Amino acid sequence: MNSRPNTGSTLTHLECGRCGATYPADRLMNLCPACSKPLLARYDLDAAALTMTPEALRKRPQSLWRYAEVLPVQNRENVLNLGEGYTPLVQAQRLGTVIGCPQTYIKDEGLNPTGSFKARGLSVAVSRAYELGAKEVAIPSAGNAAGAMSAYAAAAGLPAHVFMPADVPMLFRTECEQLGATVTLVNGLITDCGVKVREGVAQYGWFDVSTLREPYRIEGKKTMGYELAEQMDWTLPDVIIYPTGGGTGLVGMWKAFAEMEAMGLIGSQRPRMVTVQSEGCAPMVRAFVQEDEFAEPWQGAKTIADGLRVPAAVGDFLILAALRQSSGTALAVSDQEMLDYAQVMGKHTGIFPAPEGAACLAAQVHLIEQGWIKPDEKVVLFNTGSGLKYAHLWAHAGAAVAL
Ligand SMILES: *Cc1c(COP(=O)(O)O)cnc(C)c1O
Repeated sequence: MNSRPNTGSTLTHLECGRCGATYPADRLMNLCPACSKPLLARYDLDAAALTMTPEALRKRPQSLWRYAEVLPVQNRENVLNLGEGYTPLVQAQRLGTVIGCPQTYIKDEGLNPTGSFKARGLSVAVSRAYELGAKEVAIPSAGNAAGAMSAYAAAAGLPAHVFMPADVPMLFRTECEQLGATVTLVNGLITDCGVKVREGVAQYGWFDVSTLREPYRIEGKKTMGYELAEQMDWTLPDVIIYPTGGGTGLVGMWKAFAEMEAMGLIGSQRPRMVTVQSEGCAPMVRAFVQEDEFAEPWQGAKTIADGLRVPAAVGDFLILAALRQSSGTALAVSDQEMLDYAQVMGKHTGIFPAPEGAACLAAQVHLIEQGWIKPDEKVVLFNTGSGLKYAHLWAHAGAAVAL
């Protein structure tokens, strides 16, 4: 890159998360050409540290673009900003007291554009794809990712192609259509939708923004890690509980912590990272328990939590490595627990969570019961979406949990 970009980005190159091969960052890329694993963005963190200081950050806009030095977009004109990121970290004191862990916090991602944290990844990925000359974008998605991609493609004026399983809830499909995307329903799972996208890529030159199949959605999602540290005055909690599908946010936060330490913003202390999945689709939990490096695809994936209905994740080895390096764990909860704990979270915090967010609370209660989480520990739950997008579910929410 010739001159310092006007965003302040210090992006230098791409590096494969598996084989370590490096590539220039100035062109559209998907998986590592050498080994077909995810590419990760690398920055000049010494240069970033000079300008991205805690004092400088205090004066910046309240969106994820405040961390521009460690984001890939070079020219401000290409930033597609609908107000994503800088969501509140809510101290859930009443909820914490009820479950016996008073220092419980909720990062409320339901307040993002399009009602989920998918906005973070797709804002950065579509901005960067637009900057690098993508003409049309495409995605396989069972829910929130499709809506978010449609929104940022609309902001850029790029045609958007969405492939969804035919049984996707109506609202998720309507959202994409209202945002101007072309929606194709596929009889099958998300993996079958992925095949359709790759056909379009080969035939029409669309750019595939499937998570971790391009390098920049993770860059958008890693900003959750930066925000958490900034909102906790440059400390980190003891435990982070994260509802894991493709694992982009978990892997992204883990990457953010390493970057922040290299920039001198935090020390070497790390939270114990916890993956929560649904009993109906728990490939990471199974692989974690079996101490595998990669996860076998889950057969017959079925869960009400669309964000967790991911039978195979291309970043599986990165998720499992982060869980192990952090002395974390992985567990599955039932769909009924998600419905029940959504109401528990709602009535004790004022936050109406997506089922994925409720899964974090169910997991926290199990881990407290097991003694894995101590009552005096600081725990952050990620409510990854708004309950308002899941109107089709709540009729089945019961008061089965007496909290
Ligand atoms: C996509 C999604 C998830 C899973 O996120 P990953 O970072 O891909 O693991 C969780 N919750 C919701 C609401 C989602 O839309």
